[in-house]
Amino acid sequence: MAAFNESYKGLPPWDVGHPQAEFAGLADDGSIRGTVLDVGCGTGENALLFAGMGLEVWGLDAAPLAIEKAKAKAFERGSKATFVVGDALHLERLNKKFDTITDSGLFHVFTDDERVMFAKSLHSALNKGGTYYMLCFSDKEPAGWGGPRRISEKEIRATFRDGWEIDWIREARFESNFHEEGGHAWLSSVNSV
Ligand code: SAH
Repeated sequence: MAAFNESYKGLPPWDVGHPQAEFAGLADDGSIRGTVLDVGCGTGENALLFAGMGLEVWGLDAAPLAIEKAKAKAFERGSKATFVVGDALHLERLNKKFDTITDSGLFHVFTDDERVMFAKSLHSALNKGGTYYMLCFSDKEPAGWGGPRRISEKEIRATFRDGWEIDWIREARFESNFHEEGGHAWLSSVNSV
């Protein structure tokens, strides 16, 4: 966790300075609705996009430096987005439920055990009928450059079983500061039932 905070002293590879294209697409097609939580929000570009649509938006990250940067952007841009330091594995601590939870590049940092905790944590913060949209590196992305874990479609399905309904899992792209056309990724839409 400290490593993430440290990375925000510079420009981390995932911090592209604009919303991830896949989330901009979801915003355009009306999928991002109601109260929104962007979990593992980094410096806040996705959350700021959603807040700009007039939605109530929270961004949460464990790295204080990321939240500091996100708050500074919100101030500069006159955004009402709320940014908090917190643990994605304990979203119940927020005592708040959301209609939409977005995750751009968080799920793939967790261990197998943490995935189980994370699914429970998400469930506690998502209204029934609400949707979790998740973008993670897929197993089609070459392992050569290191980076976070690659995830198979099967692993996503195995994580979101009880209390969840998977709407769709699509091939997608994860923009970074060193991929020209983004890395191979999955974009998933998972409903709390
Ligand atoms: N969504 C952002 C950041 C992706 S990198 C973007 O697209 O730019 C993953 C982020 O998850 C980092 O900011 C890291 O600090 C955060 N993170 C990792 N573990 C976390 C945890 N347990 N709780 C909250 N945030 C966490």
